[in-house]
Amino acid sequence: MSGRPAYQRILLKLSGEIFAGDSGFSQSRSAVALGETVASISAAGVRVGVVIGGGNILRGAGMSADAGVGRAVGDTMGMRATVINALAFCEQLRALGLDARVLSALAIPQVCETHTRAGALEHLERGRVVIFAGGTGHPFLTTDTAAGLRAAEIGADLLVKATKVDGVYDGDPQSNPDAQRYDRIDYDDVLERRLGVMDATSIVICRDNKIPICVMDMMAKDAKALHEMVVDGRGAGTMIDGGSHD
Ligand code: UDP
Repeated sequence: MSGRPAYQRILLKLSGEIFAGDSGFSQSRSAVALGETVASISAAGVRVGVVIGGGNILRGAGMSADAGVGRAVGDTMGMRATVINALAFCEQLRALGLDARVLSALAIPQVCETHTRAGALEHLERGRVVIFAGGTGHPFLTTDTAAGLRAAEIGADLLVKATKVDGVYDGDPQSNPDAQRYDRIDYDDVLERRLGVMDATSIVICRDNKIPICVMDMMAKDAKALHEMVVDGRGAGTMIDGGSHD
């Protein structure tokens, strides 16, 4: 290891889909690669917080539409799903020799610690990876919003959103082959153009707290790029920040 990492403290937002499989939960190659990358970033001296989603298991809106469950209850079920993923990712990190802790915004004291900002900061200071589960702890919100919130709470200098696309495009790259990817874009442009890469709430939290957001592919092949971006400062995916307006 040489020099100081480009970013000192990051918040990594992982979609629950990294654990997607036939049964709603499985250890994908991407999940394994992301675990190994968290280990290498952490070994380089970067403090790492992780917010993990639960969409591979269930989403509140889907429960509401498909199973007739009220939205608030469906969302509570969704938040519990994030705890399942967080526990799995924590075990994966521990198997790699990392000291990792799950902090849940929904209290489940028999299973994991309840989130407090002070507790999270103390774990990070001790070099532990903190996995934030349970989203924000409130229905009608998403884990993207939780990611912005936790990034601000822990004083992260970067939020990485690992997702299914390799950045932010000016259209849907799946339906429009001419869609162009941005290397860098302003928070306000993402909001004004409704680019839909992340919840508006999360982008506003990051904008107001001057936390850049890097949107990049969560696929196994890009896990190395994640390390290079965080530790060596090499460009990857799309960087959303205040650009020239800062
Ligand atoms: N959720 C919630 N409040 C939060 C975070 C999550 O109610 O602060 C619920 C919501 O139902 C959501 C589900 O948990 O659909 C799973 O989270 P999300 O859809 O963000 O997971 P991801 O898409 O990242 O896998």
